[in-house]
Amino acid sequence: MAIYKQATETTFVLIKPDGVRRGLVGEVLARFERRGFVVRRASCVQMTSGDVAEHYPHLAAEPFFPEIVGFMTSGPVVALVLEAPNAVAAARQIVGATDPMKAEPGSIRADLATSVRFNVVHAADSESTARREIAHFFPGARDEENDVSDERS
Ligand code: UDP
Ligand code: MG
Repeated sequence: MAIYKQATETTFVLIKPDGVRRGLVGEVLARFERRGFVVRRASCVQMTSGDVAEHYPHLAAEPFFPEIVGFMTSGPVVALVLEAPNAVAAARQIVGATDPMKAEPGSIRADLATSVRFNVVHAADSESTARREIAHFFPGARDEENDVSDERS
């Protein structure tokens, strides 16, 4: 009984090893679902250092990059394709600022993260990043499933 139609987009979200290890997968998913996100794809995977380098190219030159690689490969992650109106911006809002001390109260990082590094969750920062990250983690997905401007009733 669709009484309205809203344009939606898809974004890429990843529950980091600290979130999985601490048993926060359900908590994180529930926060997105309560905001109206629908899970389109989900996969529990172990990232390699090559995956981390592809995922965080903007951090490759940082002196702490090896520590980020160590963290992101320290256990399984949960990769997600989530769909909602304004999915990319809405997911970044729900996730909150990188530093939990600067994140908006009520955001995942303000409520659950333990440090700038161990901040539970990743969300794509633009539509083009979302497309690249979805293609990396879900290479079998058809293009139309990854379309950030498709519609659902
Ligand atoms: N990070 C870190 N130290 C820093 C900056 C970033 O450990 O000074 C880690 C942190 O886990 C962060 C990730 O690297 O989430 C990616 O950094 P980015 O600047 O892209 O932040 P995000 O988009 O995750 O908020
Ligand atoms: Mg980022």
